[in-house]
Amino acid sequence: MIYLKTDEEIELMRLANRLVAETQGELAKHIRPGVTTLQLDKIAEEFIRDHGATPAFLGYNGFPNSLCTSVNEQVVHGIPSAGTVLKEGDIVSIDCGTVLNGFVGDSAYTFCVGEVDPAVKRLLQVTKEALYLGIKQAIEGRRVGDISCAVQTHCESKGYAVVRELVGHGIGRKMHEDPEVPNYGRRGQGALLRSGMCICIEPMINMGSKNVVLEKDGWTVRTKDRKCSAHFEHCIAIRPDGPQILSSFEFLDKVLENNVI
Ligand code: MG
Ligand code: MG
Repeated sequence: MIYLKTDEEIELMRLANRLVAETQGELAKHIRPGVTTLQLDKIAEEFIRDHGATPAFLGYNGFPNSLCTSVNEQVVHGIPSAGTVLKEGDIVSIDCGTVLNGFVGDSAYTFCVGEVDPAVKRLLQVTKEALYLGIKQAIEGRRVGDISCAVQTHCESKGYAVVRELVGHGIGRKMHEDPEVPNYGRRGQGALLRSGMCICIEPMINMGSKNVVLEKDGWTVRTKDRKCSAHFEHCIAIRPDGPQILSSFEFLDKVLENNVI
């Protein structure tokens, strides 16, 4: 069942997602060699609670933390840990969710830790491009498959592989609502896109093969060939005048730009 949101509900979704964006900005200040993923998790949890919200992932189906932190060959759902120390050249996907006023925000970004291999940076760039190409297709009257096809076509044209086992999703009062939003598919297929739909588009793209395995912790998904994987996610609303991105990378972008100098 797809829940169409009213204008008022979309404004509440925007607030929850803005807090996710601000949390990502806060985290960006702390991502450097030597920091542990558990430290990042604590920073995020405190920031979210200080702003009157709760972390959406904590306790979700028993997930033990506030962030998913997935390093290098880890695709998604990595568990923050005091033993996972980020080092120069790593990439880390940070997926963050909040619940504010009963609505969920959800967004992910893959950060570079220090100087990263240009080939891996290119994977990040292409995955981010695919996210925005997918968003461009999120227009009333089109189909979910139009989004999926745009993401898949872009990534595969650059020689990368699309993870099949994990997909984007509708979102609202619950983190995962209908419809599913795969990162692969055919134009003109899947659910009809309608104004008022809120969805998360989240390409998970591998440098090597598309195959993934589940780690023994029961959560962490990693590439089977242990090559790097990237993950970017925005939460969007479909409006009569086109897609509106409710999450934002503006806060983390500002921090990252300042660090470049
Ligand atoms: Mg997410
Ligand atoms: Mg999501």
